[in-house]
Amino acid sequence: MVRPHDSFASMDTDLYSIRMLATLSGEHLSGAEQLAGVGEIDALAAALARRALEHSRGRADAIRISIENIAQAQVVRGTLPGLRTVQVDTFEMGRQVAKALLHAAGVSAVAADEAMKSLCNGPAAGGGTMRGAMLVDALTGQRLEPDARRGVRVSRLGMTAETREILEAKLDACGLNNDHVREALTLAGKVISAEGIVAELCWSDDPDYTAGYVATPRFGYVRFPHMKPLHSTLGGRAFFVSPMGNSRLQDLIRYLETTPWLACNLGAIQGTLTVGAFYESLEK
Ligand code: AMP
Repeated sequence: MVRPHDSFASMDTDLYSIRMLATLSGEHLSGAEQLAGVGEIDALAAALARRALEHSRGRADAIRISIENIAQAQVVRGTLPGLRTVQVDTFEMGRQVAKALLHAAGVSAVAADEAMKSLCNGPAAGGGTMRGAMLVDALTGQRLEPDARRGVRVSRLGMTAETREILEAKLDACGLNNDHVREALTLAGKVISAEGIVAELCWSDDPDYTAGYVATPRFGYVRFPHMKPLHSTLGGRAFFVSPMGNSRLQDLIRYLETTPWLACNLGAIQGTLTVGAFYESLEK
């Protein structure tokens, strides 16, 4: 498990971005990124190497870990989205409710369908998983990322130690205090803070992990315990964007990939809702 040991909440310590990317037979296997204080770096590097070596899809044959200092002045401070879980019993139901949520957030049916089809078939050009996310036009469903094999990898993101402590206590109370949820919530926080992002859709490529989520600026982070069949290794992420010109798209990609983003606050961490109650909440 990747967990910092000391605090950079006071921002008086040097801040580093640590990233891990691992491949197996030339294909993306695992990746992780975090902002951390100087005193956490050695333990984090060891934990990330271990994660790549013990991945459920196989043992990495190449692991790259990069560590770089981040100037405090560049850091954008943000808030983690609120979290809710919708109790769906099957992945078909999970996808159906996720589509309704995407629609309520402003994603067209054709764009949601195209993105889900890509996640089901393997979103990388030629099939298989990507190391980053697809960028999808929220109206037309057109793919916009410059490299459809690699995708856009969100990097330089994290939370203060104080935020982490509160988050862990709240997630513990719902039985959700694990790497998957903490890391995905942080990633979604940075993604939906970006100008032009309408929504994010994700389900994991980890064969043992069937949960997925939709995150939007208005509805926060909504988890579905079932979004794909158990043992499927196909998954990924789609970032739906409002129609924009090329220069704004380049700014968006630069923000996602390079601007350091640190959560200093968090939204409400709520329990589980039935599908019916969730649909009602969308209408309010
Ligand atoms: P995971 O949730 O780690 O199982 O990742 C599932 C998929 O989401 C990966 O195969 C990537 O396609 C994508 N992904 C993971 N991390 C990132 C990231 N930092 N930025 C963009 N896409 C990511």
